[in-house]
Order: sequence, then structure tokens, then C-alpha cells
Amino acid sequence: MPESIADGKVVTIHYTLTLDDGSEVDSSRGGDPLVYLHGSQNIVPGLEAALTAKSPGEAVKVDVTPEEGYGHVDPEGQRRVPKESFPEGLELEVGMELAAQDDDGHVLPLVIKEVADADVLVDMNHPLAGQNLHFAVDVIEVRAASEEELSHGHVHGPDGHHHHHEHE
Ligand code: ZN
Repeated sequence: MPESIADGKVVTIHYTLTLDDGSEVDSSRGGDPLVYLHGSQNIVPGLEAALTAKSPGEAVKVDVTPEEGYGHVDPEGQRRVPKESFPEGLELEVGMELAAQDDDGHVLPLVIKEVADADVLVDMNHPLAGQNLHFAVDVIEVRAASEEELSHGHVHGPDGHHHHHEHE
């Protein structure tokens, strides 16, 4: 009796992500599958909900709205930052992806939208904010998570793609 997907299960999937215009923005196919812990918000909410109760061998097509995906584009997410805030010697270019760190040490990915004389317009919205997401998923494997994985809220081990940070 194969396990089906539920909270606290480690799930292995292959997936392809396309947008409304049919363009493919991400895929695990041809590479390593994605391994994640179900019920721990490791993946976008709409996809996680649609995979609940599915079993290995099932193919699932999921359409996810921005609300259930990466959210809407927040105009407040764009701001002008003085050039001297960037590391010295860094060649600033439009489209460049950087990571800033806030006071709590959280990593905030951002994209440069415009480089002016004195300052730089950066966008902190997720690159897929505001997009409908279309996933084609194959469920490959489902197993129970270990106690440690459950307490950390993510998958460990060789299939986990998990670069372990220091845990408190
Ligand atoms: Zn961990």
C-alpha cells in the first residue's frame, strides 16, 4: 500500500512550471527531482494543497493564482537605494540579482530595475509575483519524515537538496 501525500510526509516530485503565455520558467525534469516536506510551506500554498492525498505514480496538473502562489506585485517592494549602500567596486547592472540582509539576518533577494547617477531602483518582489502558475507534476515517492526533519520543517539527507544552515 503506497503512502499518499499528507502533512509530515517527505515527497519527491518532478515538476514543470509554465506561465500563462506558455513559457517554461522552471523544471526539475532532466535533473534531480524536488524533495520537500509536505505541510511545512516548503512550496507555494496552491501547489501544496493540490498535492494533498496524491500517491506515487500520479500525474497532477495544477493551476495556481498569485494569491496561492508568489503573491501580487507590491509597489512598496520597489525602492530607491543610494549607490553607496552597495559594495564598493560592484558593477551595477539592470537585471542583476542581489541579496540584501536585514537587521535580523534574513536574506532578501532583490533585482536591480534601474541604475541612475545617484541611486539605484531595486525591486524586492518575487520574480514570479503577480503570475498565474501552471504546474505539471509527477509524484515519484512519498515517505514519512524523521523527527528531526519535522522539528526543522525541511528535508534532510542526500535527496533533500538541503544546504544545512546552522540550526539553533
Ligand atoms: Zn535542518
